[in-house]
Amino acid sequence: MNIEKSLKAFSDAKEVIPGGVDSPVRAFSSVGGTPIFIKKGKASHLYDIDGNKYIDFVQSWGPLIHGHANKKIEKKVNKAIKKGLSFGAPTIVETKLAKKIVNLFDELDQVRFVSSGTEAVMSAIRVARGFTNRDDIVKFEGCYHGHSDSLLVEAGSGAVTFGTPSSPGVPADLTKHTLLAKYNDIESVKKCFEDSDNIACIIIEPIAGNMGLVPAKVEFLKELRTICDENNALLIFDEVMSGFRASLKGATGIVGVSPDILTFGKVIGAGMPVGAFGARDEIMNRLSPEGDIYQAGTLSGNPIAMNAGLKSLDMLLEDDKLYEKLEKKALRLTRGMKEAASLYDIPMQIDVRGSMFGFFFSQTPVTNFDDAKKSDAKLFASFHQGMLNEGVYFACSLYETGFICTTMSDKLIDSVIKKAKKVFKELS
Ligand SMILES: *Cc1c(COP(=O)(O)O)cnc(C)c1O
Repeated sequence: MNIEKSLKAFSDAKEVIPGGVDSPVRAFSSVGGTPIFIKKGKASHLYDIDGNKYIDFVQSWGPLIHGHANKKIEKKVNKAIKKGLSFGAPTIVETKLAKKIVNLFDELDQVRFVSSGTEAVMSAIRVARGFTNRDDIVKFEGCYHGHSDSLLVEAGSGAVTFGTPSSPGVPADLTKHTLLAKYNDIESVKKCFEDSDNIACIIIEPIAGNMGLVPAKVEFLKELRTICDENNALLIFDEVMSGFRASLKGATGIVGVSPDILTFGKVIGAGMPVGAFGARDEIMNRLSPEGDIYQAGTLSGNPIAMNAGLKSLDMLLEDDKLYEKLEKKALRLTRGMKEAASLYDIPMQIDVRGSMFGFFFSQTPVTNFDDAKKSDAKLFASFHQGMLNEGVYFACSLYETGFICTTMSDKLIDSVIKKAKKVFKELS
């Protein structure tokens, strides 16, 4: 595979953009490779600037559930663009999209739009703190909720649950309110509530997609609901990734546990920068201008982005078997790859939720971040490079999730399994 132009583009970029990328995971550093510079996308495929073609399971990290450059969304966006890119004043399309989202969820009376998942979660946390008049929050190891200060936290030493910053530039004074618990481990959550009587909320990815794909156990989520109720704390489901991905109603539509606040992003903007958070009236009415909790955004509810999101959601609503079909394809892919790996005695753990899929090179099941970290990172890096050479674009980190889009056929998936078999053979 020739990637000469990408190599040159990367070195040019590095001169003026830190690390050559505007978001770190794009740099391919965890698999020791070089990022591919993209020229265009079409349906299931990406095309790089050297003329190579890839089957894309990253899909802009989730948003593109209808594949690249979908004609219907393109048409809608083109029409909107002609009327102006932004007004900083209300537009009808915001209400239309909000209504559709609110109608889907029993949990939601209102949503507010922002411009990224990070913003959605940051705002949701502020509302939870303002509403409960408490400062502490509980988050889980391995869950990612964007890069805002109080959420960039990793484990403190030993028994202390109070978090320490995972990045320079984040004052410990800001993260001391973030308590860290272990995913799928209810005792660690109970410990947080023993350590603090000032907990505003628990925030969780109910289907974690940022430590690889690791779904929370339903029983665990039920217990979180109970603990929140007993302590008058709010439960936040961060569905920035799983929303409109795991099912039409995300994880919330699958697990049968109701959160107090939901956050969205990724698919909701269909590739445009959109995030959203929502809750019942009692909570959302606390937001300014109605209420006293401040939250704002110059480009929030941007009309181009809203039109893209609305068209995308309408298309998802058209086919009530859509997520079943996507899940079948995700199962076909992961089972096929696992079978191929087993021919060469390579142990693989696989999981699927709707259009989301994940795999780990591990002998044992992965239920939390510690398990994920124990999986074979070296093998993942070699597999990633091997598949890239075969024209298959998987996320360049083992802590990411893969995505199926509506344009992927069984035939396409079978071709990927064949390529995986070839790569496993070379690696064994
Ligand atoms: C991607 C993601 C975010 C952050 O969204 P951005 O749009 O990248 O700011 C937050 N939470 C979860 C669960 C995510 O997957």
